[in-house]
Amino acid sequence: MFTYHSTRSEAFPVTPKEAIQRGIAPDGGLFVSDALGETQLDISQLANMDYRAIARAVMGALLPDFTESQINRVVDSAYRGTFTSEEVTPLVALESDPDTYVLELYHGPTSAFKDVALQALPHLMSCAVADTGASERVMIVTATSGDTGKAALAGFADAPGCGITVFYPAGKVSAVQKLQMTTQEGANVSVCAVEGNFDDAQSEVKRIFADRALAERLQSEGIALSSANSINIGRLIPQVSYYFAAYAQLLRAHKISCGDAVEFCVPTGNFGDILAGYYAKRMGLPVSRLIVASDKNNVLIDFLNTGTYDKDREFFTTTSPSMDILISSNFERMLYYLSGNDCALVSQLMDDLSRTGSYSVSQELLSAIRAIFDGGWADEDEVSRAIRSCWEKNRYVIDPHTACGYHVLTSTEKCPDSAARVLLSTASPYKFPRVVAQSLGLFCPPNDFACMDVLQKATGTTAPTALSSLPAREERFHDVREVAQMNAYVERAALDLAQH
Ligand SMILES: *Cc1c(COP(=O)(O)O)cnc(C)c1O
Repeated sequence: MFTYHSTRSEAFPVTPKEAIQRGIAPDGGLFVSDALGETQLDISQLANMDYRAIARAVMGALLPDFTESQINRVVDSAYRGTFTSEEVTPLVALESDPDTYVLELYHGPTSAFKDVALQALPHLMSCAVADTGASERVMIVTATSGDTGKAALAGFADAPGCGITVFYPAGKVSAVQKLQMTTQEGANVSVCAVEGNFDDAQSEVKRIFADRALAERLQSEGIALSSANSINIGRLIPQVSYYFAAYAQLLRAHKISCGDAVEFCVPTGNFGDILAGYYAKRMGLPVSRLIVASDKNNVLIDFLNTGTYDKDREFFTTTSPSMDILISSNFERMLYYLSGNDCALVSQLMDDLSRTGSYSVSQELLSAIRAIFDGGWADEDEVSRAIRSCWEKNRYVIDPHTACGYHVLTSTEKCPDSAARVLLSTASPYKFPRVVAQSLGLFCPPNDFACMDVLQKATGTTAPTALSSLPAREERFHDVREVAQMNAYVERAALDLAQH
C-alpha cells in the first residue's frame, strides 16, 4: 500500500487523498511517503513527452489512489489553456552565460510560479473530498503577503465543493497585488483586507484553524476548513513535473544527451520549489546538484555552512518578499529523507526549534545534505546589480526573486559533471515593475502601472495582459476588518458556501 505518514511519526498512515484533504499531519509534521522513488520515470522517453504527459506520469507515481481518468482530468483542467505558453514552463537560453538556461515558471494566470501548483491543487482537492466519502465542502482560508493569495484565488475560483477566503494586510501589498486580488471573479471567493501586518493575519488564521467551537459549528453545516499552504503534498507534487519538463526541453533542443546531469538553482523561501527538485532526482532525473538561492534572510545558507538552523535573527523586508521567510517549512521533509527516514530525529529537531529557536544536525547528516544541496544568497544591492547585469549581458529581464538566483548561480562554479545549469524563474518581472525599472536605471513614475509602461518601452518586452489590464477591471471586494473580526468573517463566508 502506498501511504503517507508524518515526518515525525509513522503511527498514522493515510492515503494520498487523505493527505491532500488534511494538508498537515495531526502531530504538526508534514506528510511524506517512504515509497518515494519506487516508481521511476523513464528518461529515455522524456523527449517525446509534453508537459501534460509528464505531469500525468509524476502524479500517477506519487498519488496512486487517483484513477487514471481522475489524473487526466486534473492535468487537463490545470494545464490545458491556462498557461500562456504551449510548453507551460518554457526554457530559455541565456546567450552570454555558457550552458545556462532559465526555466520560466510564471506563465500562469497570476504571473507567479505558485500557479503551477495552485492550478492543480483545487482539482486534486475536489477529487479527494468527493472520494474520501466526506459529504463536506471545504473552505480554504489563507493569509497572504501578496503572491500566494492571488494564485490560490485563481485556482480555487468556482472549484466544485470548495470555497476560498483570503486575508491580506491593508496597505502592505503592492498596488498590482491588491488589484489582482480585489478584482478576482468567482461565486465562492472572498477577499478581505486586515488592519495589521502579515504576521498578525497569519497568526489569526492559525488560531481560526485551532478553534474547536468554530470547527464544530461549521461541521454541523457540512463545512471543513483547510489551507492551501505549500506544505500540502497536493502543492508539492505538481511542482516535480517542471524539473522533468526542463530536461525534456534540453533533450529536444539537443543541448544535452539522455543521462547527462543537470544542476538547478532555485530562488527559495519555504523550500517547496527546490524540494520538488529533490523528488525529481529520487524519481530518476539526473540532477548533479540543487543550489538554494536565498535573499538577505539567509537562514538556510547559514545552516548549509554550519549545520545549525537558527531562526532567532533579524527579519529583513526585502525586494523579494516571497523569499522573506525564517522558518522554511518544507525543509522538514528534506531532513526526513536525508536522515534515512528518521522520524525520531526529525521530531527531536522540530521540538528543539520550537523550544529554543534552533537545532543542530550531526556532521554525517550535514555531509549527506551537502552532497546534493549547495547554496548562496544575495543582498539587495546584489539583487539590483543582477537584474541589470542579466539585462546588459543577455538582453533578458528578470524579477527580484529570480535575480537572487541569478546572482548565486553566476557566483558559483559550475559542477564539473553538469552538462547544463538551469535557473528557475519564479515571477514575471512585471509583477515587480518598480524594482526592476529602478535596477535598470530607468525613470520610475509614482504609479506602478506607469512603471510597467516604462519597462515595456525600454526593454521591448510585453507585460502579461492579466497584469496590464488590471486598472480597467472592476474591484469586487472592499472589505476591511480588524484582526479580531477575521474569525466571524470566515464563519460568514463558510455559511454562504454551505448555502450554495
Ligand atoms: C513563493 C515564491 C518563492 C519561494 O518558493 P518556495 O517554494 O517557498 O521556496 C520564490 N519566488 C516567488 C516569486 C514566489 O512567489
